[in-house]
Amino acid sequence: MANFKNRIDPKTSAMLVRAAKSQMQIGLGDIVVDRGKVKKKQKELILNGKKKKQVPSYRSLSGHEKAINTCQKCPLGATRSKFVYGVGNPNADVLFIGEAPGRDEDLQGVPFVGRAGQLLDRILAAINFTRDDIYIANILKCRPPNNRDPQPDEMKTCMPYLMEQIRLINPKIICALGRISAQALLQTTTPLGKLRGQWHDFNGIPFIVTYHPAALLRFQSYKRDTWEDVKRLRAKYDELMAE
Ligand code: SF4
Repeated sequence: MANFKNRIDPKTSAMLVRAAKSQMQIGLGDIVVDRGKVKKKQKELILNGKKKKQVPSYRSLSGHEKAINTCQKCPLGATRSKFVYGVGNPNADVLFIGEAPGRDEDLQGVPFVGRAGQLLDRILAAINFTRDDIYIANILKCRPPNNRDPQPDEMKTCMPYLMEQIRLINPKIICALGRISAQALLQTTTPLGKLRGQWHDFNGIPFIVTYHPAALLRFQSYKRDTWEDVKRLRAKYDELMAE
């Protein structure tokens, strides 16, 4: 998985922020209530206040996955073994978002199945969640070669797929796993250490940031902070459920 040092230079970060700003306007204002069928109608994509084109929306994650799982919109489509859409409860209240599939995920077509995934399972268990309670997805659906960091243009191209997943799942809480996911979704270049430890807002959805499990495997010192983050997440979840 990626190196978690800050490797996005300011120019690249600004490009990513601009890309994310335009993509954020996709899908989040249009809630489709009826689930279970592949969506047929198209909706308008509005970028910077201007109608650009029609983009499809769907009524189920399975319909969405079926429609996009042969995607070749960026070069990663040609090098992947398997498309990695996401896994978990399609009606989950908590959505975890990483950056991209790794080797094991690429081979199995499921996110977070290697050592990092096993650690994520233990973290979830520590706050009384299982994978059946939550949903897990990545920004990229295809593995970058040699687990390099996702490139800004790759994330820009793939981001609408994640936005559609968020719209369909309609989670009450989003948790970004790792710097790249957090910065891309929050449209910021702020270091991960400053993003975590507080709640953010993602188009009205409480949004929290913590370390990627792969980073925890490499840096034991992150464990205490991660525990604090997931306890905060669980407390927010309990609070929202009580409401
Ligand atoms: S990473 Fe995303 S945009 Fe690129 S080929 Fe895969 S699904 Fe398509």
